[in-house]
Amino acid sequence: MRQVCINQEKNDIIQLFTTRYTGNMSHTREENKQNVDKRFEMIANTFNMSVDRMVLLNQTHGTDIFVADESYIRGEKPVCDASVTNVPGICLVTIHADCVPVYFHDKKTKSIGLAHSGWKGTLDGISIHVLDKMNEVYGTKAEDVEIVIGPCICKSCFEVKNDVYSLFAGKYPDYADCITEGNIDLKGVIIRGLLDKGVREENIIDMDICTCHNEDLFFSHRRGTKRNKSGEGAMAALACLKG
Ligand SMILES: [Zn+2]
Repeated sequence: MRQVCINQEKNDIIQLFTTRYTGNMSHTREENKQNVDKRFEMIANTFNMSVDRMVLLNQTHGTDIFVADESYIRGEKPVCDASVTNVPGICLVTIHADCVPVYFHDKKTKSIGLAHSGWKGTLDGISIHVLDKMNEVYGTKAEDVEIVIGPCICKSCFEVKNDVYSLFAGKYPDYADCITEGNIDLKGVIIRGLLDKGVREENIIDMDICTCHNEDLFFSHRRGTKRNKSGEGAMAALACLKG
């Protein structure tokens, strides 16, 4: 199905990433917001989920994490860039147009997480904050967590000026393979951080698909900016424990 690219569908979880065939999934990039709601309903119907239990966030490139518990019903969007849950049927959602989607799954505590990691979130280690939050709330240990890195901008497409390069080089002096003058490998920095935190290498799946390179499949903020077109659309990452 071209509408939704399935990262993983196992017995106990479902992890999805939409494509440009799904349409724009960002309410802030769409004049008629009902169009976006309809697309979420289509996904909910296709994958047997409830749209009222989809956790949409007000993303600000920060590191705050929303904990969705049993009482969650869709309403005001929490100002957060990641969410976690251990409740089957609750679907975590983040919106992306090049920023890295990071999916977390701890089989032992039956809990999941999802992060939107742009350059600011990556610099500030939002994925590490998710691991810490899952540990605090569910008792998750890093060595038990399975990670999927979804479609995102690649190193060669992610060109940066000296100010951003200096921030990364200053904070992560040991990650020289991911951080070079002019280009930063965001998912590389994320993976290095997760490994340093105790996630096992064999538990990390990197889909290794670039949103900026693959115009046929994905919207891309960077590609749009280069052509002086912005706001063409965005994809949704979704993660849900099956009931
Ligand atoms: Zn690329």
